[in-house]
Amino acid sequence: MRQCHREIARWMEPLGAQVRVDAAGNFRGFYPGEHASSPRLILGSHLDTVPNAGAYDGVLGVVLAITLLEAFKERKLPFGIEVVGFSEEEGVRFGTPFIGSRALIGRLDDELLNLQDAEGISVRRAIQQFGLNPQEIPRAHVDPDTLGFIEFHIEQGPVLEELGCPLGVVEAIAGQNRLEFIFLGRANHAGTTPMHLRYDALAGAAEWLGEVERAAKAVPEAVATVGKIKVKPGATNVVPGEVHLALDIRHRSDEIRTKIVSQLIRKAEQISERRGLRLQHKVLLCQQAVRMDGFLLQQIELALQKAGCVPHRLVSGAGHDAMILAEKVPAAMIFLRTPGGISHDPAESVTAEDVEKAIECGLHLLDQLASPPVFLKRTVRA
Ligand SMILES: [Zn+2]
Repeated sequence: MRQCHREIARWMEPLGAQVRVDAAGNFRGFYPGEHASSPRLILGSHLDTVPNAGAYDGVLGVVLAITLLEAFKERKLPFGIEVVGFSEEEGVRFGTPFIGSRALIGRLDDELLNLQDAEGISVRRAIQQFGLNPQEIPRAHVDPDTLGFIEFHIEQGPVLEELGCPLGVVEAIAGQNRLEFIFLGRANHAGTTPMHLRYDALAGAAEWLGEVERAAKAVPEAVATVGKIKVKPGATNVVPGEVHLALDIRHRSDEIRTKIVSQLIRKAEQISERRGLRLQHKVLLCQQAVRMDGFLLQQIELALQKAGCVPHRLVSGAGHDAMILAEKVPAAMIFLRTPGGISHDPAESVTAEDVEKAIECGLHLLDQLASPPVFLKRTVRA
């Protein structure tokens, strides 16, 4: 990460940008506006990644932002541009994502700083080991004069490719629930227990699994996944007595998502009752959907059209730094088509043509934002 910061600084300093690494390990490069008192716009994405990753998730958004500054050729805008390369977006090391972006909105609290990695090293300690001072985290907050945050990111899904669109504008980031369901039956001998005397927890869970798929398919844009299942005792010759399932469910509307969750809980209860099973369930995560800023959305659509693209709107099923920043500053995202929808894998890619379109769109967007006084008058919600 240190080498990465050094490399980016080497690109940004010749452009007249002031660079620093804040106390949460985020790279910050500031390209000043026309005046010392000019407000600022933040561009960027994350620099960390997952094990066995591809080369574009996150870092493309940082490189794109710097490319836009290079294209200015020292021209100044009525706002400064701060390029942020966020740290710890993926949550690989500490099991919690968005640590870097949370520092920008003042949500990097003691609970987060005390989280430990697999070796028992806390976030606080890791920050110190990197040569930074956790006491200075308040200095990482967004400047009160921030007009907004715009993030370029690969889509990490197949939608834009299917539509034949190089770029898309993110309308909202889907809300998400994670729940654990436990079906409790009675373990017994697979050879001697007649079918009508069984309390098979897995057969009940399997019936419910079908309902999960049906429920999500019945609602446009809903996605529901059971990605983890544990069967006890888990032997070929034993009727399953206990099944644990993890449900992940997402939708752009919190109301619709909550409705599907209640419907699936009811189904699980009905199935359990009919089969003489007991049911337990627990909500592990309830994250509200985040809408992107309406004004920036319109401006991005206009910029996309100028770049010759159909301004397709889409909802991000994955979380992003923009979702965290949206709490304090108007935020927006532009997705780039991801060939095969493949991400978090070395096969992840983008085409040079699509990146070119993204740069074109970004330049139109900055020109637009620099001209209407309406944007410059907007104040930060900090
Ligand atoms: Zn990412």
